[in-house]
Amino acid sequence: MAHIEFFYAPPGGIAGDEIRFPPDESKHIAVVLRHRVGDTVWAADGAGTAHEVTLVSVGRREVRGRILRSERGAGEPATAVTLAAGVLKGDRFDWLVEKAVELGVSRVAPFLSQGSAVGSPSSAKTERWRKIALAAMKQSGRCLMPEIEEAVQLETVIRRAANHELRVAAHAGPDCVSLRDAVRVVPSPVRRSFLVTGPEGGFFPGEIEALRRAGFAIVSLGPRRLRAETAALALLAQTFALTGE
Ligand code: SAM
Repeated sequence: MAHIEFFYAPPGGIAGDEIRFPPDESKHIAVVLRHRVGDTVWAADGAGTAHEVTLVSVGRREVRGRILRSERGAGEPATAVTLAAGVLKGDRFDWLVEKAVELGVSRVAPFLSQGSAVGSPSSAKTERWRKIALAAMKQSGRCLMPEIEEAVQLETVIRRAANHELRVAAHAGPDCVSLRDAVRVVPSPVRRSFLVTGPEGGFFPGEIEALRRAGFAIVSLGPRRLRAETAALALLAQTFALTGE
């Protein structure tokens, strides 16, 4: 696929077939990439639609265009996947958010649990993750802005999984099944999946029991112990492969 970078133009800037890009997107289009009137670009509205746009006015403060055609769901998977992941040290969670968005995640739910090596992330850090998600949405050619939730405790995350057909928690421990076995017992097509991976310290026995009681399949990702961020992406990629794009 030719590299088409999507710009971001939220629905508030769209009236009829006219589209106005926000100031920072306008500066990127006009100054950094030096686009001209008459150029064609793509705009993702973050709400699930991408628009092919011809530029009609290019200024460093505002770029406007006319919508040529729109594509609902461009770059989006058919199944909605939530990834609940233990908050990680340093910038590892930044990397996890960016890769999860590229892979097609709909929502990232950071959580704290007994195995967490860090405390609750600041609101500034959550905002940074949201900016990373927006950039990854544009770069990967998606049109739905994945939701990055505020960090909560694992118990809260477990309660939010109730209305998902596929519920899976990855664990490097005994009494695990394969993801294939977990998917096999769920009616197809799977529309909503809820995946959970642990922090650096893993899950404690009581947490695994709570996950099982809440209907989660406890799944092994193989004999090797993966870093938390590797496990999250491996689980995501395998889930999309097994439940369909
Ligand atoms: N000492 C911890 C333990 O034994 O659980 C290591 C945790 S690991 C660094 C972080 C998370 O990655 C785990 O909680 C689990 O969700 C996931 N993980 C790592 N390797 C895995 C494997 N082979 N199978 C399933 N999950 C794995």
